[in-house]
Amino acid sequence: MKTRVQAKIVGRVQGVGFRPTVYRYATELGLAGFVRNDPQGVILEVEGEPENVNAFLDHLQAAPPPQAVITSVETHPQTPRGDNKFEVVESEATGNAEVHISPDLATCDDCLRELNDPQDRRHGYPFINCTNCGPRFTIIRDLPYDRANTSMAGFAMCPPCGYEYHDPHDRRFHAQPDACERCGPRLSMEITDAVNLLRSGQIVAIKSLGGFHLACTLAAVATLRERKHRPHKPFAVMFRDVETVKRYCRVNESEEAELLSTARPIVVLKTPSLHRSITPDFPTIGAFLPYTPIHHLLMQHFDALVMTSGNLAEEPIASDDAELPHVADAVLTHNRPIVHKCDDSVVRIVNGQRQFFRRARGFAPSAIRFAEDCPHILAVGGELKSTFCLARNGFAFLSQHIGDLKELKTVEYFEREIAEWQRLMRVAPVAVAHDLHPGYRSTRWAQGQAVKLIPVQHHHAHIVTVMAEHDLHGEVIGVALDGTGYGTDGTIWGGEFLLATRADFERVAHFKQYRLPGGEKAIEEPWRMAVSVLAAENLAPEIRSIRGTIVPLKHRMVEQLVRDGFQSPLTSSAGRLFDAAAAMLGLCDVATHEAQAAIRLEAAADASVTGHYPFDLNGPVLDFGRTIRALLDDRQNVGLAAARFHNTIVAGIVRVCESVREQRGLKRVALSGGVFQNEWILTRTTAALRERGFEVFTNTLVPPNDGGLSLGQAAVAAARFVGQASRLSAVNVDNRDGCPTEDK
Ligand code: ZN
Ligand code: ZN
Ligand code: FE
Repeated sequence: MKTRVQAKIVGRVQGVGFRPTVYRYATELGLAGFVRNDPQGVILEVEGEPENVNAFLDHLQAAPPPQAVITSVETHPQTPRGDNKFEVVESEATGNAEVHISPDLATCDDCLRELNDPQDRRHGYPFINCTNCGPRFTIIRDLPYDRANTSMAGFAMCPPCGYEYHDPHDRRFHAQPDACERCGPRLSMEITDAVNLLRSGQIVAIKSLGGFHLACTLAAVATLRERKHRPHKPFAVMFRDVETVKRYCRVNESEEAELLSTARPIVVLKTPSLHRSITPDFPTIGAFLPYTPIHHLLMQHFDALVMTSGNLAEEPIASDDAELPHVADAVLTHNRPIVHKCDDSVVRIVNGQRQFFRRARGFAPSAIRFAEDCPHILAVGGELKSTFCLARNGFAFLSQHIGDLKELKTVEYFEREIAEWQRLMRVAPVAVAHDLHPGYRSTRWAQGQAVKLIPVQHHHAHIVTVMAEHDLHGEVIGVALDGTGYGTDGTIWGGEFLLATRADFERVAHFKQYRLPGGEKAIEEPWRMAVSVLAAENLAPEIRSIRGTIVPLKHRMVEQLVRDGFQSPLTSSAGRLFDAAAAMLGLCDVATHEAQAAIRLEAAADASVTGHYPFDLNGPVLDFGRTIRALLDDRQNVGLAAARFHNTIVAGIVRVCESVREQRGLKRVALSGGVFQNEWILTRTTAALRERGFEVFTNTLVPPNDGGLSLGQAAVAAARFVGQASRLSAVNVDNRDGCPTEDK
């Protein structure tokens, strides 16, 4: 007696070799029926002996294809039809999409073997791929994921490729970007010509999956810095293989796994050599491995190549030849269009876990499960390191890194991608969540939308990213430390201790406020913060001793600004306190890139130093005034002073958490905000809190910086929809003079 069952499989099940696997399992068990993609996922029906049907369903869930993520399987019994074969049938393009789009996947070992095999018909072909690897998100225009809906639509398959594509036993069965030398995309230049140009010290723009890289040899890095107007900001280095990485950097097991993962992110590694020209401010480099066939072919000729995004300053990465800035001497491009720009992701391993600096290629648009259920929501994030987030049915889809919305080109890219993603994900938002900052471009964009608006305080959103990631409900102690975020009282926050639920929060403590002299100017010029803090702490005579390029006349001018409060809003920013300390120690008076002062301060800190400086907790105010005095006394010993400063911040965090625990009986602590990218602060705070019996949660799926903000906003919006009471009443969103939009 035969049975027939229909199964609807939802999750990341398209573009990952799902149908061939279904075909193989079904035919191995002698089952008849069919499988097809549809906008909800994969629909299949199997007919045969009941034990074989059950074995099939068990096996598929126990051993899905390696890149697949099954989020649900629904089965319905059917009347047997007497089918005698199993078929893969054409996709249906109707209905609401629940399918999750696969991120781009690094070249797999099978393809790599063929690429290097002189007998293989794809030997040396720079666009080789299969159902287990290759471009996905960056070539997809619409669902279902079929060739006609990708930027491969313009390439008609040759007969041998077509044969593979239709053969269910072939690794390239329904591999949408499948192609070969005869029928597929082509490079504009021979690899060997590019190799020769690079060897001669030239800068070559290379088209990759989500945009262009600017590549050069280590010897030519000074030229690249000059042309990109980037004196200090770190560059990433692509290495030939993991053994070569190990010759230059220290690599532990988790870091190696990260380097070799199919996402192939840039991994920040400690390096005893090499780093000076690549990352002048810190003894680390961002290392990554070849992830496209083009990279593999190139890297056969080099141990290492410097590779940085093909863009200028904070503009979006160039994905089209016409967008390329005039920085490169030559361009290695190709004719497979990029549909979605996507930068390299940047991660590091800290406390044995992944921490994102930037989440993009290889991760976007993977789904993040963050709630039981929720209506369709769009969250538009912050201003710098912008991302947006779409949510439906309890899943959040965080966009790739968009960039700095101060740039007009980035705003255009932001708007275009939001429209594209809404179409692609079949999301029609009933609400848009946004930051409280009235000056953010994202806020203004949200206010132009004709749907319900849900304003979310910046640091609350940071904390809720952690709650969403770790499925935390109820109340937590949220420690949100960053550069800038708009507060509910119209001042600038950034050293915040919140009693937070997903829907709401109460500000229970914060760093002491100082003036931000000249608003955004003070972020670019840390010496201004030093002047502000010294003046406020009655240490004005010490202002003369601030070392750097700034003349004393300007010091006096800023001192005046601080005294009058003119164009100098109040801020409880933690980031600015790091800036002030770095400037007082002569480490950075003017910053050339984001967080440079804090990065130098961390690099200067002597890891063997223990102990901290005095500080005070006066009611809700965490006051580091006495810390500043002690720091100045030690300024001749920068390593010691920097270390004690860091330790004092850690001690301050612990003190506040203990006081909140005493009063409210809470022991779960969520740490977020850009300051937790400081490894010293993150590892020592985590350790100190755990030693005292706290449960500590940090970001591992999204960046702790503003790149994660939109996930937090979406989760807050989802929680408010669930109807948790809101204690937040009238929120002041008046624009204040000189209130910066930066968050460094
Ligand atoms: Zn492959
Ligand atoms: Zn072909
Ligand atoms: Fe922030």
